[in-house]
Amino acid sequence: MAFEGLASRLQNVFSKLKGKGRLSEEDVNEALREVRLALLEADVNFKVVKDFIAKIREKAVGLDVTKSFTPGMLVIDIVNKELTALMGETQSKLARSNKPPTVIMMVGLQGAGKTTTTGKLAKLLQKQNHRPLLVAGDIYRPAAIKQLQVLGEQIKVPVFTLGDQVSPVAIAKAGLQHAKDNGHDYLIIDTAGRLHIDEELMEELANIRKEVDPDEILLVIDAMTGQDAVNVADNFNKQLELTGVILTKLDGDTRGGAALSVRAVTGCPIKFVATGEKVDALEPFYPDRMASRILGMGDMLSLIEKAQENIDADKAKELELKMRNNEFTFEDFLEQLEQVKKLGPLDQLLDMMPGMNKLKGAKDLKVDDKQMARTVAIVKSMTTQEKRKPEILNASRRKRLALGSGTSVQEVNRLIKQFDDMRKMMKQFSGMMGSGGKGMKGL
Ligand code: GDP
Repeated sequence: MAFEGLASRLQNVFSKLKGKGRLSEEDVNEALREVRLALLEADVNFKVVKDFIAKIREKAVGLDVTKSFTPGMLVIDIVNKELTALMGETQSKLARSNKPPTVIMMVGLQGAGKTTTTGKLAKLLQKQNHRPLLVAGDIYRPAAIKQLQVLGEQIKVPVFTLGDQVSPVAIAKAGLQHAKDNGHDYLIIDTAGRLHIDEELMEELANIRKEVDPDEILLVIDAMTGQDAVNVADNFNKQLELTGVILTKLDGDTRGGAALSVRAVTGCPIKFVATGEKVDALEPFYPDRMASRILGMGDMLSLIEKAQENIDADKAKELELKMRNNEFTFEDFLEQLEQVKKLGPLDQLLDMMPGMNKLKGAKDLKVDDKQMARTVAIVKSMTTQEKRKPEILNASRRKRLALGSGTSVQEVNRLIKQFDDMRKMMKQFSGMMGSGGKGMKGL
């Protein structure tokens, strides 16, 4: 997972500080030295690191953390604020033109994820009730147009193309007219990428820009390429004046360098981050939430938002009531798993919970999605009666379930035991709650 190394190193530094009642100047210096090393190892631009440490030192001295009653917390707070500032302070929203369509030009090197991200962005806008139109402007890469068309079909967003024999500038111009004629409020132009930055490409992009006067020029960069991504951004920005950056592949084990340096080096805000190959794996970027995620303070806000977007509130209430009344069955369990699955990969969810990323290192904590798929397979092998009355699951039935789900009897036993334990816990819990669940009895 992204930032794991950086996060665990920083959290180690701070857990040492938190334990101390008083901090000496030497403690602070030592901590800053370690923060500096952690950032450099995460591939953050060295100049950015230097400025960052200088700012923290200045603030720490200004506040005189050594005299504070909670010195460790104070240092963490300073680092948190500076990390947030480094990544751009507040969320940088997508432009919205008051003369629709809002025109977005997508640019980037080949392989960064530009075409995929173009589709993801259209999907995101569509979810917000906009009517985007995609324009296939990459006429050089074989199959680039087809790739966009397939994506468009998948997300049900129209794709404008004039094939690969017309110049990208003419395609962009015609696409803009098409959007105006057909009431699209967003126009997203996919442009050609190259393996390296070259003049011909820049000239073509500059010509498209002149033709359609975009509200946004978004550069897609691959977070896995670290400092290279930042250099690419710097170059593109000098030639095209970018309005923002989209960082892709944050689901990989990127060390964090690009995310932490790109804003400081180029002045361009990160507007979105992509966290997977699926078409809905694109999120707005919030510097404050990312900072607290890195510092192990969790990102409950993003988690709650995801839950609100994806979980059916009525169903959740119904399940809660069943739990309380001790009527929870394997059918409900399956339902609950399906709901959780909608929120995204489990390890990404854990990353958003305070302190949870530390737990991920624990050997006996299984958070992989494969495990979840096996659990679902077992439950799906049950008959309706078995799901509703797990008590009837005797040895021969359990054997059948193992065969049917391609798992083992041990796994089936384990799941049933866990389910039983869960029901017991719920019973205890609902016993502790007063009627209607208000307040805890006996407390
Ligand atoms: P383009 O050449 O810049 O248009 O790149 P593509 O959109 O074709 O993407 C290149 C590869 O990166 C494809 O295999 C994508 O599925 C993959 N990709 C794009 N974004 C992400 C992401 O956020 N996470 C992961 N894991 N893969 C991604």
